[in-house]
Amino acid sequence: MQIKYSYLDQQFSDVETYFQDLRKLVSTGEFTLGPFVEAFEKKFAAYIGVKHAIGTNTGTGALILSLKAVDVCPGSEVITVANTFIATVGAIVAVGARPVFVDCDERYQIDVTKIEAAITPKTMAILPVHWAGCPPEMDKILEIAGRHGIPVVEDACPAVGAKINGRSAGTFGEIGAFSMHPLKPLNVWGDGGIIVTNDDKMAEFLRLYRNHGLLDRDHVEIWGVNDRLQPFQAVVGSRVLDTIETLVEARIRNARLLDEGLKGLESCIRPPHRPSGYREVYQLYLVTATRRDELVKFLVSHGIEAKVHYPIPIHLQNAAQGLGYKRGDFPVCERQADEIVTLPAHQHITDKQIDYTVSAIREFYGAHN
Ligand SMILES: *Cc1c(COP(=O)(O)O)cnc(C)c1O
Repeated sequence: MQIKYSYLDQQFSDVETYFQDLRKLVSTGEFTLGPFVEAFEKKFAAYIGVKHAIGTNTGTGALILSLKAVDVCPGSEVITVANTFIATVGAIVAVGARPVFVDCDERYQIDVTKIEAAITPKTMAILPVHWAGCPPEMDKILEIAGRHGIPVVEDACPAVGAKINGRSAGTFGEIGAFSMHPLKPLNVWGDGGIIVTNDDKMAEFLRLYRNHGLLDRDHVEIWGVNDRLQPFQAVVGSRVLDTIETLVEARIRNARLLDEGLKGLESCIRPPHRPSGYREVYQLYLVTATRRDELVKFLVSHGIEAKVHYPIPIHLQNAAQGLGYKRGDFPVCERQADEIVTLPAHQHITDKQIDYTVSAIREFYGAHN
């Protein structure tokens, strides 16, 4: 049996309906911002439950612009988690700030008990990540940030649809950034990003900044860049957004089936603790496994595209050399880099494929069914 990690050919098999939408766009020639982007932004804001949504070219761009919107400036520090996708940290560096890492916890999320010790007079933002589509403990993060008067920028890039007690990821802090990269829950045909905020001033700044600072064709209000969402991606994203709840529910269901299937194997392989009230969207279905590298090889040889996100922690990458971190600084993150494995659990995985995955894992560990 083949169990593929990517599901994009399946997800967009009804391509004709998308082409019909795109024909409408092409017939108008509205190729830079315009009504299609605006309509998508409104729809996305309504779905998330927030006042403003501002489309950008990528999730990384959404993060960079969000950090700018809360005045993170060169020479300042931004606190984030040691295990994330490199773009979180790249965005901090791109605005001239220094990334300050905090170790993660056993849910693979920022360890909220270690944030306060990382705060210095230079801290200009806390950037928690909804890593793998799972919210961190936002209430504790907001409490700490509030006490120190530091803005919270959420990297909700992989987490469209994730919630804590009904409240969407990306809406807890001052501002939140999402990605619409093909392998995120809300995906488009290439790159796309979107920022959400309830703050009118920030929204106004972001709309100007992503479009050269242009008030109108002839008037430049501030220095800016070109970081606009492509209208054709807004059209694709809008159609995917119509189905997002079905799609996320299918991922949740598959994750539950895998959680169930792995019961009894805790000494070898186990999912993280999943507190009630936290709605994860499983952009990645992560578990901790002994003999991880052997397991991944075994699964791949059985047609199951297991992966590792990621084997080398960011603070040990060449790019991070100038930050002065060393092995041993973030022991939980470093241990997880040796133990975590990502199993295919997306919306197009069938019950049969999950049974097959579980059986293969049981066979690998010599467990009796
Ligand atoms: C995907 C992702 C990003 C970057 O998004 P892009 O759209 O690929 O630029 C940033 N942070 C996290 C946690 C992500 O998962």
